[in-house]
Amino acid sequence: MKHLLPELPYSQYALAPAMSAETFEYHYGKHLQTYIDNLNRMIEGSPYEEMPLEDIVRKATGGIFNNAAQTWNHTFFFQTLTPEQKAIPEKLAAALTEAFGSVEAFKDEFTKSAISLFGSGWVWLAEDAEGKLSILQESNAGNPLTKGMKPLLTVDVWEHAYYIDYRNKRAAYVEAWWNLIDWEKVTERL
Ligand code: MN
Repeated sequence: MKHLLPELPYSQYALAPAMSAETFEYHYGKHLQTYIDNLNRMIEGSPYEEMPLEDIVRKATGGIFNNAAQTWNHTFFFQTLTPEQKAIPEKLAAALTEAFGSVEAFKDEFTKSAISLFGSGWVWLAEDAEGKLSILQESNAGNPLTKGMKPLLTVDVWEHAYYIDYRNKRAAYVEAWWNLIDWEKVTERL
């Protein structure tokens, strides 16, 4: 099965200026495309060739894991963005309040995790088998699926995600990213 660049529910240029067309061209058009090309090349003739992407992420190690997880993570990340943000649905606000004290407390904790993650990686909001929500810092291509958890939301804190628009200012990128989240998508995953 050949993995393809995911279709997005918005134009590549719709998220500017928070996420510029140039960032999109590189991040989605080049970085993500390279992970997908690497994955397709590496799984050819392997037991992973016909496996759904999510199963490859759960089972693979090494280079196949890295490229499969980066493909999954970026697809999930980009598909959770919107140029027309709406308010957080009540169901999600209630779940965040139960887990973190308030929506604002969740955002503060998530932002701190995103800023403090050392090196490249992803910060996740994920739900465990008991329905408990938590924030996870994952290095490199890390993904909560490998811990048996369900990903709800993620932010990419690899430098390639923000260096064109924000240079070294990861905090400014994270602040802008909060305004691009499609909260309805996040709520559907609960
Ligand atoms: Mn990225």
